[in-house]
Amino acid sequence: MAELIVMEKIDGSPVAWRCSDCRQKFSVRGKLTAQERCKLVTAEFKSHMEERHKAGGPAREMAFAAGVPLPE
Ligand SMILES: [Zn+2]
Repeated sequence: MAELIVMEKIDGSPVAWRCSDCRQKFSVRGKLTAQERCKLVTAEFKSHMEERHKAGGPAREMAFAAGVPLPE
């Protein structure tokens, strides 16, 4: 399962993250509280997960790696 990894902090609060799976970067800058940033990046990451890592992606890769025919 992919997760967010903090890449950069400013004044102790995270402003940049990356996806542990595909290393895509996410950053939230501007005058926001840490809580607002967290909320924004979480929402962004959620749609990233749906687009990149959910739609059968990891399951397919695993099936492929194991030499199992893909279910159609
Ligand atoms: Zn990713």
